[in-house]
Amino acid sequence: MSSISGKTTIDWAAFAQRLAPVEVIDEPVLIKKRSRDFFWYSPILNDQLKRCFGDLVALPKTTQELAHCLSEAFAAEVPVVIRGGGTGNYGQAVPVEGGLILDMTRMSEILEIGEGFVRVQAGALMKDINEALLATGQEMAMFPSTKDIATIGGFVAGGSVGIGSLATGALREAGNLMALSAMSVEASPQERVFTGTDVMKIHHAWGLNGVITEVTLRTVPTRDWIAAMVTFEDYETAYATAYALATTDHIAPKLVSVVDARIVDYFPRLKGHVRAGKELVVSYVPREDLATFTQMAEAGGGVVDLAMDDTERESKSIPHAFEFCYNHTTLQVLKSDRSATYQQIGVPVASDAAAIARLRQDLGEEVWTHHEFYRLNGEVVSIDLPIIWYSTPERLAELNALYERHGFAVYDAHSNLVERGGLHSADYSHLAWKKRMDPKGLLNSAKSVAWPIVKDLSPEEIEAKSVEASE
Ligand SMILES: Cc1cc2nc3c(=O)[nH]c(=O)nc-3n(C[C@H](O)[C@H](O)[C@H](O)COP(=O)(O)OP(=O)(O)OC[C@H]3O[C@@H](n4cnc5c(N)ncnc54)[C@H](O)[C@@H]3O)c2cc1C
Repeated sequence: MSSISGKTTIDWAAFAQRLAPVEVIDEPVLIKKRSRDFFWYSPILNDQLKRCFGDLVALPKTTQELAHCLSEAFAAEVPVVIRGGGTGNYGQAVPVEGGLILDMTRMSEILEIGEGFVRVQAGALMKDINEALLATGQEMAMFPSTKDIATIGGFVAGGSVGIGSLATGALREAGNLMALSAMSVEASPQERVFTGTDVMKIHHAWGLNGVITEVTLRTVPTRDWIAAMVTFEDYETAYATAYALATTDHIAPKLVSVVDARIVDYFPRLKGHVRAGKELVVSYVPREDLATFTQMAEAGGGVVDLAMDDTERESKSIPHAFEFCYNHTTLQVLKSDRSATYQQIGVPVASDAAAIARLRQDLGEEVWTHHEFYRLNGEVVSIDLPIIWYSTPERLAELNALYERHGFAVYDAHSNLVERGGLHSADYSHLAWKKRMDPKGLLNSAKSVAWPIVKDLSPEEIEAKSVEASE
C-alpha cells in the first residue's frame, strides 16, 4: 500500500499488520475524510490544508492497544496526529506531514462519577458525559457548542471556553480540569498523571506532547435551565444590557451572547420566533432567575421573544440555544454562504459598549460582530467571533490592523500554528513536555514553529526558555 499523503516512504500495508489486533482503516476515501476538521471556516487554511491527508487510521479500544500503536509508531518513526471528533477550526487535527491518524473515539468509557467530578476516557463524547451526569443531578461545568460530536480529549487539547464558562470560567481556570493522564510515544509508552496546575503542561497543546487517555473534570449541580432570546433595536444597547446580565450578582446565567441582527438573518429556524431585523441576546438562565432576567432585559430596552425549557423548545422545533452562540454562529452563516469567514477578537474593556460601537462604525458592512462573555480570574471578559465577508488575505490583514488600532487583540483564527492563535507566543512548558513525552518529535510537530528551534535541547533547557521569555 503506497502513501496516500505522498509524504512518507513507509510500507503502510506492513505497518497496518504490525498494529494488529488494533482496528485500522486503510480505505483512501475514509482516510481522507478523517484527515479533515473544520479548517474550511478559513479560506486561507482551506487553501493550505485541503490536500493534506494521513496514510492510515488506527482506532485503539484500550490503553494497551494505544500503547501498542505508539510503540510501533516510535519504532518506524511514523508521524502521528491524534483525532477526537475532528471539530477543531484551525486544522489542529490535520496530518500535514502524512502518517498515522490516531482516532480516539473508541476509548470512550465514563469511568467514575462522584460529587463534583467526573472521570472519563479521552474519546468520550461530551454529550454522553453530560447525559450520564444529568442522571446524578450534575452537569459539566462547561461544554463547547460542538458537544454532540466532539470528544473531551479534543476539548482539553484544543478548546478553551464554552457554555458554562460565564459561570465557572475558562477550562484553564483552577479546578475546572482536575487531572489528566497522557501517554508518551516511546519504545515502551508510559502513562503519566498530571494533577492541579500541572494539567496546564498538556492542556491546549494541540496533541503535540502526549496522547490524553483520561480526564477528570469539575462538575456542577444541574439547574432548570431556560433558554432565553431577547431582541434589541441597536447593538450598543444590546451589548450594554448583555454585559449587565452577565455581571450582575442577582442572577446566574451560564451563557450570554450578543449577535448582530444581520447574522440573525441567517438563522432560518428562529424565523417567526424572534423579531426580524433585531440584534439578539442569547442566554441560558436558571428558571428561578427568569423574572429578574426579564426585568433587567426589558429595562435595557429588550423584548424577551423566547423563554423556554427543553420541552417547550422541542414542541416548537427550535434547535438548542447553544447552536446560536460561540462558533455555531459562524456555522449558521457558512451553511448558506461559503464566502463568509470569521476571526477571534479580544475586547480590551468588556464593559465599554461605546468602544464597540465606535469599532463597528469603522468595520462597516464587511464585518458583523458577535460577542461572548466568560469569566477569567473571576472577572467577566468579552470576546468577539465576528462574521467577516472575505475578499483577500491582504484585506483580512487590514481588518486585523484596524482592530489593533482600536486596541482590540487579534487571536488569529487563520493560522495552523499553535503559537499564532490563542497562545500568541511559544509555550515552552508544553515543548519541554513534548521532549519528555515525544522525544522523536512524532506528534503533530508541524503545528509548532518553536519546536524545530528547541528540539535538540534537554527538557530542562527548553523549560528555562520560559523564564528567559518572561524577563
Ligand atoms: C461549530 C463549532 C463550534 C465550536 N464551539 C467551540 C466552543 O464553544 N468552545 C471551544 O473551545 N471550541 C469550540 N469549537 C472548536 C472545537 O469544536 C472544540 O475545541 C472541540 O472540543 C474539539 O474537540 P474534538 O474532539 O472535535 O477535537 P479534534 O478536532 O479532533 O482535535 C482537536 C485537537 O486536539 C487534539 N486531540 C484530540 N484528542 C486528543 C487526545 N486524546 N490527546 C491529545 N490530543 C488530542 C488533536 O490532535 C487536535 O490538535 C467549535 C468548533 C466548531 C466547528
